[in-house]
Amino acid sequence: MRIAIVADIHSNLAAFQAALRHAEETGPIDRLWCPGDVVGYGPDPGACIALLRRYPHTAVAGNHDLAAIDKVSTADFNASAARAAAWTGAQLTREERQYLDGLPEVAKEGEFTLVHGTLRAPVWEYLLSLEAAREQFRLMETPYSIVGHSHLPFWAEEGGGDEVRSEPWSDGERVELGERRLIINSGGVGQPRDGDPRAAYVLYDTEARTLTLHRVEYDIAATQEKMRTAGLPSWLAERLSFGQ
Ligand code: ZN
Repeated sequence: MRIAIVADIHSNLAAFQAALRHAEETGPIDRLWCPGDVVGYGPDPGACIALLRRYPHTAVAGNHDLAAIDKVSTADFNASAARAAAWTGAQLTREERQYLDGLPEVAKEGEFTLVHGTLRAPVWEYLLSLEAAREQFRLMETPYSIVGHSHLPFWAEEGGGDEVRSEPWSDGERVELGERRLIINSGGVGQPRDGDPRAAYVLYDTEARTLTLHRVEYDIAATQEKMRTAGLPSWLAERLSFGQ
């Protein structure tokens, strides 16, 4: 089975479509796993939810998914993110809101656990430190977990004892599933923040037992134009050019 891991889509339909097209160039996609934030920031919330739902999929709730339906407060959001969350909420149909409302905070898929932030704080915590990774390993009931939220692609593996090794994940790099437990972040599809503006996603080949990160170009200008037309904060459009 070929599973595409698509995190932090953030209402960026052009990026999402480009990632799926790229994945499907080498064979059919059997399933999507989304570790949260299908909406927020970008111009196409409804279309991104619809595209995700066109596939058999497993998704968990991100902070932006819940902010858009007023399930969490935007008090901790910066002003642009809060404005985008309010705009997103106004675009959603009742049915789309119900879909987001039904997303679990944590989902298990065989050997994998999906969570947007961390198992310690599923919706809000950024898994960025070795301490947070150690705590994640401690709480994991499966050998592998997938997180999103930071929009930074990386993998972290558990060594002997308390040791954790974490590395940024680069385009085309393959991680093999073996003895060691792993945490991965597949990067942001719709708003990368590692300085590379290309959409990021991971292809999981369940037979080969490999996870491969891919970076895909998409029409950034088209998404930016839609955002400006929608009246979304200009910084949110500009940052897509830099992957910040
Ligand atoms: Zn996000």
